[in-house]
Amino acid sequence: MQASQLQNTYKDPHRYPHGVAFQDGQFIPVSEAKISVLDYGFLHSDATYDTVHVRDGAFFRLDDHIDRFLAGVARLRMQLPLSRAEIRNLLHHCVALSGHRHAYVEMICTRGTSDTFSRDPRDARNRFLAFAVPYGSVANYDQMRRGLHVSLVDTVRIPPESVDPSLKNYHWLDLIMGLYGAYDRGGETALLLDAQGSVSEGPGFNIFAVFNGALVTPDKGVLPGITRRTVMEICAAEGISCSAGSLSPDALRQADEVFATSTAGGVIPVTTIDGHPVGNGRVGELTMKLQDIYWSWHQDPRFKMSVTYPED
Ligand code: PLP
Repeated sequence: MQASQLQNTYKDPHRYPHGVAFQDGQFIPVSEAKISVLDYGFLHSDATYDTVHVRDGAFFRLDDHIDRFLAGVARLRMQLPLSRAEIRNLLHHCVALSGHRHAYVEMICTRGTSDTFSRDPRDARNRFLAFAVPYGSVANYDQMRRGLHVSLVDTVRIPPESVDPSLKNYHWLDLIMGLYGAYDRGGETALLLDAQGSVSEGPGFNIFAVFNGALVTPDKGVLPGITRRTVMEICAAEGISCSAGSLSPDALRQADEVFATSTAGGVIPVTTIDGHPVGNGRVGELTMKLQDIYWSWHQDPRFKMSVTYPED
């Protein structure tokens, strides 16, 4: 991505996002989208969701995101009266009506409510919502250019035995408290360890470390990110060694390069850990190469699905 394009993406970070939501059979301004205080999604984080992005007027890997979403819905034993094609269509409409060429698009299924406020989750009517807002990133413009400052924090990531991390969820209190831990240490974002002391993930991103040109990303207790998968596929295509395995904090500190991956930002360089420079302290060469290829893959017909806007 060009610097001017990047700048455009990250401008106006504090404005309430203009966008379009789909709720109860209607498309409405995102500022009017609401859920009941009695929805178990709100009361118990009993929900699953997925986030896909639109770049230059086209979705990236939409079907992969819908697959992950539908797998989460099934694992939570929720019923969604919508087919894959209908979900795809609703998301397209949210983006088209919003007019955003670069968008952050969320699909959500909550347990919903029951007429009697029953404690039995089977009595609830599940609820689908979706929205499209301007594209947002884990890192702002400056951070993208000079690399994120990350802190390893004491808060332990929720164990996979308790909440399956492959099911995208709103159990974010460990990640949020991790963020406060990072701010207290002068960091900009947090990296959490798992109960065994290995590196896991951060608020909204997976992590990769580079050692002598070979990549390692944590294999357990993390969301199998679509951006993480894309990086692994890029590595396979480019003949770069990349494996999922255990990553200790000490190894991470010794890495030549570190980067985060997320739908919200793509390949995001990390240049300090706990205030110490990663490698030479500058954004790594391999990180930049993967970043370039990641954005170029947005033109690949295997992954790209164009949005038809009303004015087109
Ligand atoms: N890990 C967590 C906890 C996340 O919430 C996310 C995305 O929101 C990611 C990793 C990155 O996943 P993806 O690349 O699919 O956006």
